[in-house]
Amino acid sequence: MYPDLKGKTVIITGAATGIGKACALRFGQEQANVVINFHSDKQVKETEEMIKEIKNSGGNAIAVQGDVTKESDIKQLIEKTISEFGSLDIMINNAGIENEVPSHELTLEDWNKVISTNLTGQFLGCREAIDYFLEHDIQGAIINMSSVHEIIPWPHFVHYAASKGGIKLMTQTLALEYAPKRIRINSIAPGAINTPINAEKFSDPKQKEGVLKLIPMGYIGEPEEIAATAVWLASNQASYVTGLTLIADGGMTLYPGFQAGKG
Ligand code: NAD
Repeated sequence: MYPDLKGKTVIITGAATGIGKACALRFGQEQANVVINFHSDKQVKETEEMIKEIKNSGGNAIAVQGDVTKESDIKQLIEKTISEFGSLDIMINNAGIENEVPSHELTLEDWNKVISTNLTGQFLGCREAIDYFLEHDIQGAIINMSSVHEIIPWPHFVHYAASKGGIKLMTQTLALEYAPKRIRINSIAPGAINTPINAEKFSDPKQKEGVLKLIPMGYIGEPEEIAATAVWLASNQASYVTGLTLIADGGMTLYPGFQAGKG
C-alpha cells in the first residue's frame, strides 16, 4: 500500500475492462478518487459495479464516458474530474486496441484507428493533464500503457507496434520536457496479460501454448500484476523516476529463445 495515494485523484482511460479496470480497483484500495473513463454504452453496468467496489474499499469514484481519440472528450474528462474532485494528480493513458492483419493488406482506416486510439489518444491525455498540472503548479504523474511491442517487432500488428514504439519516445520526450516542473511521465510495458484483448487468442489452447513458450516465467500475467506497478510508479516511492518504461512481462523481452544455453 502507498499511503500518499490516499485522497489523490487519478483518471484512467479505457478503465471498464482488463488492465484499466484492475488499476481502477487498485487505486480504490489505495483510497484514491478514481475517474473511470469508459468507451462503450455496454460498459455502463460494469462501471457501476466498479464504483460500488471502490467505495467499499474506502476510495471514491465516478465514471465518465468518452472516446480518447476525440479532443473534446478528453477535455471534458478532465473538466468532469475537476468539478467532482477539485483536482487531478495522476493520469493513466491506458485505452488501446489491436487487430491482426498482414501488413500488405492493412487498410488506411485500420491503421488510422489504431494510431488514433493508442498513440494520439495517449498524446491528448498527456497534453491535457500537463496543461492542467502547469496551470495549477501540481507535480503530477502520468503513466502511459505501452507494451513489450515498443521493443519487440510484431508481424501482422504493424499499426499496434508502431503505436507502442511511438509511446516510448513520446513518453521520454515529454518526461525530459517537463522534468524541470517535477511532472513525472513514465510508461508500463506489459507482456501477455489475461484480459479481454487476448480472450479469443487464449481460448484456443494451441495459440495459448505458443504464447506461453515466449514467457520465461511460464505463465500469462494477471491485470492486477500490472496495476501493482502502476500504483508504485504513481506514488512518492517513485519520486525520482521519470522517462522510464517499466517492463512487466515475465521475462518476454529477455530473448527466451536463448534459454538453456541455446544460441
Ligand atoms: P482491454 O480490451 O480489456 O482494454 C482496453 C480498453 O480500452 C477497453 O475497455 C476499451 O473499451 C477501451 N477503449 C478502446 N477504444 C477506446 C477509445 N477510443 N476511447 C476510450 N476507451 C477505449 O485490453 P487490456 O489488455 O486491458 O488493454 C489495456 C492496455 O494495455 C492497452 O493499451 C493495451 O495495448 C495494453 N497492453 C495489453 C497487453 C495484454 O496482453 N493484455 C499487453 C501489452 C499492452
